[in-house]
Amino acid sequence: MDTTIVRIFAKNDQHMFRYTKFLIVSLFLSSCLTSALPVEASGDNDRPKLVVGIVVDQMRYDYLYRYEHLYGNDGLKRLLREGFHFHNTDYPYVPTYTGPGHASIFTGTTPSIHGIIANNWYVKDDKQKMYVTQDNSVEGVGVGGKEGRMSPANMLTTTLTDEWRLFTNFRSKTIGIALKDRGAILPAGHTANAAYWYDGGSGKWITSKYYMDELPEWVVNYNAKKQPAKYMQQAWETLLPLEDYATVATDDDVTFEMPFTGMSRSTFPYPLPVLYKKLGNSLIKNTPWGNTITFEMAIEALHHEELGQRGVTDMLTVSFSTPDYIGHQFGPRSIEIADQYLRFDRELGDFLRVLDSTLGKEGYVLFLTADHGAADAVGFSDSVKIPAGLEKGELFDAVEDALKKTYGRDDLIEDYRNLQFYLNDDAIRSADLIKDDVAKIVVNACRTFPGVLFAHTLEVYLNTEFAEGLRGKNARGIMDGRSGDVIVTLHPSYLEMTWQIKGTTHGTGYSYDTRVPWILYGKNVPAGETFEAVEIIDIAPTISNMLRMGNPNGNSGVSRLPLMLKH
Ligand SMILES: [Zn+2]
Repeated sequence: MDTTIVRIFAKNDQHMFRYTKFLIVSLFLSSCLTSALPVEASGDNDRPKLVVGIVVDQMRYDYLYRYEHLYGNDGLKRLLREGFHFHNTDYPYVPTYTGPGHASIFTGTTPSIHGIIANNWYVKDDKQKMYVTQDNSVEGVGVGGKEGRMSPANMLTTTLTDEWRLFTNFRSKTIGIALKDRGAILPAGHTANAAYWYDGGSGKWITSKYYMDELPEWVVNYNAKKQPAKYMQQAWETLLPLEDYATVATDDDVTFEMPFTGMSRSTFPYPLPVLYKKLGNSLIKNTPWGNTITFEMAIEALHHEELGQRGVTDMLTVSFSTPDYIGHQFGPRSIEIADQYLRFDRELGDFLRVLDSTLGKEGYVLFLTADHGAADAVGFSDSVKIPAGLEKGELFDAVEDALKKTYGRDDLIEDYRNLQFYLNDDAIRSADLIKDDVAKIVVNACRTFPGVLFAHTLEVYLNTEFAEGLRGKNARGIMDGRSGDVIVTLHPSYLEMTWQIKGTTHGTGYSYDTRVPWILYGKNVPAGETFEAVEIIDIAPTISNMLRMGNPNGNSGVSRLPLMLKH
């Protein structure tokens, strides 16, 4: 008996007679009906005109429900009402950062296979760090500096978007849009027609020569409107009266939020025109209008590139970076992040209306998910008596001390980032030391440090099959040649924050970071929900299934289309 179908039907139909009739029919014909519900056949006519992949950077699962009573009817609540919600969607690896998150959603696999192990990693051969989408072989378009020297080259597998381009023999188009380069580039894949990201220096949307030689006219025209400067000419007041936020957020004036540069407190209203004079076009990224210009670019792309309007299914990926910027600055209990989500929700409603009117209500499939969640600010946890602590780089000092005590040398660690120690192979060799011995000293120094749950060498993770638990998540998050030699795991209450001590961060394998929304909506998607545990890497094979095409080449996820029928 297919309970989902019954619930889906009951939700959509008020008439008990029809509901009962359906119940009886479905008892007898359940298998027949089951096969009739999802995408029915494989002809072009049954496919959506457009697949829209929305990633909300740093959206925790609980934001869907904590703010529910303050959301409008047409945004997130429309998706929850009319779409299919996978309540228990988790990241199966560490570290839960933006680059790995976007890559995993679209490749259907984990960093151990797609290679995007962090936002930055250290390359021993070059003796320098590598940024996730850095590509020194290409120049920027619309910008001169390193902001434009970007491509998906570091991602080692294909994406959902790549596979669809291959399947259609490149008749389809893929466009990726996000304020962050990595949020635009990784989802759009290797074969994208374009990825556009935001340059905070000039206030313009840019791309790289990986995609094209010149910005299209519509992007040039949009840039010429200088929307970022316009939006920063108003104060940031709360959307609803301040007292309405009392059910979802702490007081406005708390010490554990990060004030804007030049302000001593983090309280509404924010004088954006004053801040804009100091911070320029970057400021918009940390205000709700960062979402506004992202939606605007997505709509411009939809119209000017005629996405979904050319007789073949196209793909549009849109990542909203602003929730992450505001989340880091103010934390998940702040009025600022709540206000950002309320405004995002209303703008999402407007965006859905544009998709409806351009493609028809049944013309598209959309999914909404996130690249990671976020931890509570340590100061907040302190204030409510929940254990919490910060790793601000003291661990590095402790390890250096231990190595100095043992070997009398302070050059044995080459780099420390993402809670990973990169040993200095040259120094180890020239001192006639054995690398495993040095690694063991590092592991032991870490293990005795407050806040550390455990530490293992890269070798342990490469040579052991950890299926479950945190060690399994670590193993799925590393790659030989990119990851460090010793990998540290902190307690759930400890955050690694080396760049600021206020606000918060993410990156762990714990639920606050790994559990995110996944809502599927649109053509042939029934209204419904499942509480079965699924993984973020299941999104790509599920969409592949809906389109009746192959999976990305490194796929290790599972299509969850069957869960839309029964669970
Ligand atoms: Zn972040």
